[in-house]
Amino acid sequence: MSDVADRAEWRIEKDLQNARAHVMKKPTLDSDGHCHFCDEQIAHGRLFCNADCRDDYDKEQAALRRAGA
Ligand SMILES: [Zn+2]
Repeated sequence: MSDVADRAEWRIEKDLQNARAHVMKKPTLDSDGHCHFCDEQIAHGRLFCNADCRDDYDKEQAALRRAGA
């Protein structure tokens, strides 16, 4: 019966993500169970399947910002 605890933990992680996103002035990414870069299925609460995807996503976002998007 750890459902409530799991959810609380997920909620805390989500709040931390929001806080980090706010500090870094980036739009908040929703963790929908899929990698934001390659769309692979990942554990809920995670944004990317691995560090490579996170780095590539960051590079892509930086390029978009440089392009004035
Ligand atoms: Zn990925």
